[in-house]
Amino acid sequence: MKAWVLYGADDIRLEEVEKPQPKGNEVLVSVQAAGICGSDIPRIYQTGAHTHPLIPGHEFSGVVERTGKFADRKWEGKRVGIFPLIPCRECAPCWKQQYELCRQYSYLGSRRNGGFAEYVAVPEWNLIELPANVSFAEAAMLEPMAVAVHAMRRGQICQDDTVVVYGLGTIGMLLVMFLVDAGIRNILAVGNKAFQKQIVRKIGLDERNYCDSREQNAAEWIQKHTDGAGADVVYECVGRNETFVQAVRLAAPEGRVCLVGNPNADMALDRDTYWKVLRNQLVITGTWNSSFTHEPGDDWHFVLDRISRQQISPEKLITHRLPIEELEYGLQLMKNKTEDYIKIMVI
Ligand SMILES: [Zn+2]
Ligand SMILES: [Zn+2]
Repeated sequence: MKAWVLYGADDIRLEEVEKPQPKGNEVLVSVQAAGICGSDIPRIYQTGAHTHPLIPGHEFSGVVERTGKFADRKWEGKRVGIFPLIPCRECAPCWKQQYELCRQYSYLGSRRNGGFAEYVAVPEWNLIELPANVSFAEAAMLEPMAVAVHAMRRGQICQDDTVVVYGLGTIGMLLVMFLVDAGIRNILAVGNKAFQKQIVRKIGLDERNYCDSREQNAAEWIQKHTDGAGADVVYECVGRNETFVQAVRLAAPEGRVCLVGNPNADMALDRDTYWKVLRNQLVITGTWNSSFTHEPGDDWHFVLDRISRQQISPEKLITHRLPIEELEYGLQLMKNKTEDYIKIMVI
């Protein structure tokens, strides 16, 4: 089969490799769509993965071609989405079904072979069956969407809250999409690229609720839109110190700050900002990955339900579709930011 194999930092090659054999309770998935995640770029070009050689790609969907010896035959021919985290199922968080907090997990696409290939061996536990009206491209976005929903839920939003989303990369944009879907009226989105305004409009946010931080001071804009009171919930989806500081400073008394963006450097609060946390009784929370428990209310089933009811249409965020041979073009584009993009998908 064709696969992109990572041999180390900045060494990825398209190769002809052996098709995987599904072991025990694994199934063989024929990949139909795979998204490139922001985290794939440093993994492929700077740090490398946990083991090499490795086939990256953790946002993918496909059809089950074959089942391993102990896997349920019912999966054969089924269209599936894939939760990429393989939990140990022995640690304390796993016992509570908080698999996203597993202490000793494996991961498709970073710790074992993932979706930038024609086929992947996947444990049947990690499968989620797709309704007929959900496309493979949509299903390949289940992972980032579930991550956005997980963050949304961590913020414990009430209907009337004023909610700031600071940073409109893929997760930030998806978060806005789910906040709109949840009927939150006071959403303030802060981006810094011209095309983000159009996308924000496409997903149902009024352009008055969008601020381009290059054109105006985002802090002043938020203060103005909240009559100086600050926001009830601020999602920091950038991962930079200055936006972290702003997020804390812009939170209203008893407000919540939810940290979503992966930090690009050390994070620190000056004393004046630290005082805000105390004096405003702020709740600062982190969010990590997404919940997948096979129950209807988990992040993955929630997202799948919203898509199949056509309440959410993530395809609006797919800016590029490439054949597998051209994956590297997409990776380079994201690395060098040579074009505007939200989600780049290998189909
Ligand atoms: Zn991802
Ligand atoms: Zn565990």
